[in-house]
Amino acid sequence: MGRRIGIFGGTFDPIHVGHLVAAVNAKHALALDRVVLMVANVPWQKAGVRAVTGAEDRYALVEAAVGDVPGLEAGRHEIDRGGESYTAETLQELADDQPDAELFVVVGWDVAGELATWERIEDVKRLATLVIVNRPGTGRPSGLDGVGWRVEEVTVPNLEISSTDLRTRAADGRPLDYLVPEAAVRVIRARGLYADE
Ligand code: ATP
Ligand code: MG
Repeated sequence: MGRRIGIFGGTFDPIHVGHLVAAVNAKHALALDRVVLMVANVPWQKAGVRAVTGAEDRYALVEAAVGDVPGLEAGRHEIDRGGESYTAETLQELADDQPDAELFVVVGWDVAGELATWERIEDVKRLATLVIVNRPGTGRPSGLDGVGWRVEEVTVPNLEISSTDLRTRAADGRPLDYLVPEAAVRVIRARGLYADE
């Protein structure tokens, strides 16, 4: 098992090519051995705000989407742990399992701007290097440097795609093809997901 591990957390409701392009480019730019797309069980920021698709369905979509892309994998640590998902706990679990691993937490600009609200942020800082990727729709947040973070910036193609927009498209009967990898679209159809929101 490689020792430079990226953790790209998300709700992935559904996964889309914006996630995958960010993941593979972060992997390449920082010579990571693998990037785990870590599926949030209960995303505490979203719970109660909108209906979130079941975790196992979202995990199946991520698994289908990463397919056999080398070095990308779906992670179910947060699902298996149950309850609300906190990155600090996930990092601690990975660090305990693989004490020689170097951990990198990948976030887009929008999430980077919300880090101050994360639970046990000091643990995240201690356990991982923060990797920030650009995302259209929000600017790069300031105030991340010089406050105890190890920070890397990775520039990725600007893809203006969000799961929120995809859910609206699906509900309207518009196609998700090419925005969502084909294998994941097949899972969406087979399970009847996003059809009647
Ligand atoms: P939603 O609209 O439901 O919030 P989302 O598209 O933002 O969905 P998330 O699962 O919330 O997807 O995001 C997971 C991670 O992926 C976050 O760090 C987010 O910044 C990043 N991300 C999502 N879409 C893109 C994109 N198009 N380009 C770069 N990063 C992205
Ligand atoms: Mg989001």
